[in-house]
Amino acid sequence: MLQQEIDPMLELKPTDIRLSAEAKDKDEAIALMVDDMVASGLVTPAYLEGMRTRETQTSTFLGNGIAIPHGTPETRDEVKQTGIKVLRFDDGLDWGDGQIAHTVIGIAAKSDEHLTVLRQLTHVIMDDDLSNQLHTTPSPDDVIQILKGEKLEPKLNIDAKAMRLDASVTGVHEAKALAAGIMVANGYVSQAEQLSLMTQEPLNFGGGVWLLTELTEQSTPGVAAVVPEQAAQSADFNLLLAISTQGRSHKALYDRLLQMKRDHQLPQLTQAASGSTLADLLRQMPIEGDSIELRLPIEHGLHARPAAQLAKLIKSFKADVWVTNLSGDGMAVQGTSVARLISLGAAHGHSLRFTVTGTDDSNPILQQLSSAVTQGLGDPVMPLPELDEDSAPELDLNEAAEVRPLEAGDELTGMTGAPGMAAGRILKLERLSFNFSEHGQDTTTELDRFEQALDQLMTQVSARLDATNDSTKTKILAMHLELLNDPELVDGTRNAIRQGRSAEAAWTATYQSLADQLSLSSDPMLAERADDFKDLGYQLMLILSGQSTQAADEPHILLCEEISPSQVAEFDPAIVQAIVTAKGGTTSHAAILARAAGIPLLVGCGEQALTLTDGTPVIVDCDNRLLTVADSDESLEQARVEIDRRKQQQAEAFAKRFDPAISQDGVRMEVVANISSASDVEKILAQGAEGIGLFRSEFLYMAHTKEPTHAQQVAEYKSARERLGNTDFPLIVRTLDVGGDKPLPYLAMDDEENPFLGVRGARLSLMRPDLLKRQLKALLEAARSGPIRIMFPMISDIQEWRKIRAIYEEVAADYPDVQCEIGMMIEVPSAALMADVFAPELDFFSIGTNDLTQYTLAVDRGHAKLSRQADPIHPSILRLIDLTVKAAERNNIWVGVCGELAADPFAATLLMGLGVKELSMSSKAIPMVKAAIRQASKAESATLAQQALQAIDAEGVYQLKSKEA
Ligand code: PEP
Ligand code: MG
Repeated sequence: MLQQEIDPMLELKPTDIRLSAEAKDKDEAIALMVDDMVASGLVTPAYLEGMRTRETQTSTFLGNGIAIPHGTPETRDEVKQTGIKVLRFDDGLDWGDGQIAHTVIGIAAKSDEHLTVLRQLTHVIMDDDLSNQLHTTPSPDDVIQILKGEKLEPKLNIDAKAMRLDASVTGVHEAKALAAGIMVANGYVSQAEQLSLMTQEPLNFGGGVWLLTELTEQSTPGVAAVVPEQAAQSADFNLLLAISTQGRSHKALYDRLLQMKRDHQLPQLTQAASGSTLADLLRQMPIEGDSIELRLPIEHGLHARPAAQLAKLIKSFKADVWVTNLSGDGMAVQGTSVARLISLGAAHGHSLRFTVTGTDDSNPILQQLSSAVTQGLGDPVMPLPELDEDSAPELDLNEAAEVRPLEAGDELTGMTGAPGMAAGRILKLERLSFNFSEHGQDTTTELDRFEQALDQLMTQVSARLDATNDSTKTKILAMHLELLNDPELVDGTRNAIRQGRSAEAAWTATYQSLADQLSLSSDPMLAERADDFKDLGYQLMLILSGQSTQAADEPHILLCEEISPSQVAEFDPAIVQAIVTAKGGTTSHAAILARAAGIPLLVGCGEQALTLTDGTPVIVDCDNRLLTVADSDESLEQARVEIDRRKQQQAEAFAKRFDPAISQDGVRMEVVANISSASDVEKILAQGAEGIGLFRSEFLYMAHTKEPTHAQQVAEYKSARERLGNTDFPLIVRTLDVGGDKPLPYLAMDDEENPFLGVRGARLSLMRPDLLKRQLKALLEAARSGPIRIMFPMISDIQEWRKIRAIYEEVAADYPDVQCEIGMMIEVPSAALMADVFAPELDFFSIGTNDLTQYTLAVDRGHAKLSRQADPIHPSILRLIDLTVKAAERNNIWVGVCGELAADPFAATLLMGLGVKELSMSSKAIPMVKAAIRQASKAESATLAQQALQAIDAEGVYQLKSKEA
């Protein structure tokens, strides 16, 4: 039977705590404790005997004035209900061996609950101030909070990834900016706190070490270190430590630094060979001595009684013994403290390292420790699990399982990076590897080689920039040029060369470290820029090594592990008919460029794709996310016919793009577009859009360096309205949808561990109602010149909606002449499930399937490996849409869909079948969606939609496609 661990601490009420209890000795205190327990129905009076016996076996005194009396296993039957009681003795009570107990926590334990309480208490025992508070606070609530760990200060994070060695900074002030950046990237401070850090004067700690401290609200206070490169080091400056702290989280580190200063050990920090050494040194001073590693055979781990035995043994040695739990956090504690030994959290089978210092003869000590520990320190021992079971190799998800080579007729699914279809022969693009030596010739030669390669790369990128008139390509190439001027990248490399490294080694170390830092960023946009650094890194290495990638003149389908933006920028669509990659996501710059160039791109096909060899005939159907190995020349030919058919179909659909989308049985679907700026309106009208179903207003905010003024906002919304011309064409503006994954640089927001589950959309608006009110004012003002519908993003609960609506009504009261329809987006499963509750209180729903899919299937919408599983056509999403439509119909309101799903012609017919009235999409998809609606009948689509709702997975829905055709 599974035994559940009950946490008696959670049940603790103020009435369980008796402050100012009185007893003349320990025995009377225990009797008083049992009286209280009996009165509360926790135990029978016979439990007293168990508690007394326990004290005779070992003292239950834990340390720092705390004792935890509890019964023996033999008296467990006397416990009616698990619970604890607290007695506090103002003057303290002798608990044996001269130990004074102030707070006595009695445990009525049916089984091993005292171990749970014990674990929870270690934080109090280890902390003098907290223990003091526990013994003196006049408030029982405070006692509860302290015992439950709610007054615990967060632990200081000292992590190698926040230690920057060899930084190209010229002084402490430049180091400060860098350290502040590292602190934000690691979530140690918020952006607002970063500013405060930047304005502080660092404190000169001596020995070239400077300190910068910030009190933080973040739940992860931590330390960033910047060590300047050797050339910039001086007696005055060779290390900056930036520390964010809460309460006294930093105290142990300060103590350690002071100790190191006293012991003249600071140079160890400034000369650390790596970030992890520096982090280790900051976590604790190195302990040097003879040591032994032993596995703990004690059934219940190193709890109070064996810990007390161990401490007693260690106290008897004329030496210091440090104990480290190698299976735990790796921190060494002094073996004389029971509390610190317990805090190791050592469980059965854990490996403990005992290090002996302060003696010339450690052997007998190590032998005694070995025999005491293996015999269980007076506790029952249990056989140890096999070590390899304990330290099973870590599962590497990226490790390739055995990959079967693809054969003719095989199919692989990928993700659509860029739409389209192609049939042709594979050309594999191998990523070149570079061999180089760590140390170069002389500094001048290596510097020259680097400067020349850099010049050459800049010339190449500039030439590509000059040769393009595509705005997307321009933006990306201009950004690459800017990165090539980045002082951290360029000066970082130069400095590393000056330290004796070859140009290749210096460049690789510098660009990779910048890419690694960026990839750690919680901002996905920044994290994606890591790929741009890697791309440039690779290109410069090609130049330095005198290699070049093979260029082919024959049309082909390019296959590679991953494709970089600069490679796509070079490709000629007449030669590269399609690109297939094993890795990669759909939102990368490479994908954006492929879309702009019109090259079909199928990404994330997996390692198996790489088993294809040059010349293999394949069919790449990005529209259906499929790579097929052609089994005959006929199948290639058939694919070419299909490609022509699709082109023909597209041309026909495009010719009829301005016609309405009316189904065979006369039902009209409104087909509108998603835009991000008023200037998009002409483009979407030219594709046949009948209005705007989603104006993502956040782009207006992102385009400014501070919140757009009232006049700027009004002008933008009015401009969209006016450019639409036809007042029958709707304009739906979504209020600001930032936060989480879409940060707004001038809006201070805390870094969040799960930004998609954090302060986003309407949640942010409710935290900043002033911002929302200003936007609503601008929208209502603009609505004076033509109808505007307003919708709100990320609503998950009716009370949230009511608050939003109340704010809207407050602002609208100043515009009695304006009538706006207001609606909400359905992007969260809870909103779809409760659509019947929302529907009576608004005018329309617009379903954001992009977010609805990620929240329903629990897959990050940008996840490179998993996004294939996040298919919005999944029946779970269709069922949520069905629920929403039914609730809307009962309340006579309409439903639109503005997520990517609406842009899929097949899905569009299913949505019509479910009763969706409006489809909003990126405008390129409009002609084909309109054509699909025209070819379908609402009645047949409804039947098909019912079958789709019954499908067991996305594949089951796709299978219906052939029925429709
Ligand atoms: C959606 O989530 O489907 C949506 C349309 O909103 P966005 O893509 O802007 O998050
Ligand atoms: Mg959304």
